[in-house]
Amino acid sequence: MYEEIKKELHEAHMTLEKYGLVAYTSGNVSVRVNEHVIIKPSGVPYSSLKPEDYVVVNLEGEVVEGNKKPSIDTATHLYLYRNIDWARSIIHTHSTFSTVWAVVEKPIPVLCTAHADVFGEEIPLTEYAPVGSEAIGKAVLKVIGRSGAVLLRKHGVMVVGNSLDDAIKKAIFLEEVARIAYFAHLMTTPTPLARDEVEKLYLQYHTKYGQR
Ligand SMILES: [Zn+2]
Repeated sequence: MYEEIKKELHEAHMTLEKYGLVAYTSGNVSVRVNEHVIIKPSGVPYSSLKPEDYVVVNLEGEVVEGNKKPSIDTATHLYLYRNIDWARSIIHTHSTFSTVWAVVEKPIPVLCTAHADVFGEEIPLTEYAPVGSEAIGKAVLKVIGRSGAVLLRKHGVMVVGNSLDDAIKKAIFLEEVARIAYFAHLMTTPTPLARDEVEKLYLQYHTKYGQR
C-alpha cells in the first residue's frame, strides 16, 4: 500500500542527504495519510534505504505494513499528528547549524528577511526530552507556533508541514537561517528585524510569492 507515497518519501530522504541535513542513519521523514503514517525504518543507512523499506503504522503506533521496525522517533511523530490537525508531514534532523542553536539552548532570532518570509517568528526551543517516547512530542507541542519549526534542546530540530514539500522546504530553510544567524553572531550581536516588518514579510510571502 501507498507505493507512490513511499517513493516520494524516499526521494525526500535523499533530498535531506543531498542538502547535508542528515548523516548515515540520522533523521527521519514521515507522511500522514488519513489514519496512517508512513515513516522511515529504524537504523537503516541512507545508502541502502529503498522505497519498500518504509513502514506504515496507524496513529497508535501499530505496524500496518512493513518488514522493518519503524524509526525510534515514531512515537514523537504520532503524538504530533494526533495533536496538530494541519500536520501532514514531519521531518526530524540533527542538521548542524540548527543543532548548534539547540545545544547552546538559544532560540533563533529573526535576523534576515528569508527567516521572516518562511517562518514569521523566532524558532522556539523545547525543554530537554529523552528520545524514544512521547516526551519530545509533548515538549514540541508546548512551544510550536505558526512556523511549524522547533529546536529540540540538546538534540536537533523538528519541522511540521502541511504537505511533504512544505516540510522539506522548512527543513532546508531552517538550516539556512540558522547558519546565517550563527555567522552574524560571530561578528556582532545583531538586531532582530522589527516585529511589524516580520509580520509584513510573512504575510506577503504566504499570500503573494511563488507560482500559485
Ligand atoms: Zn534525533
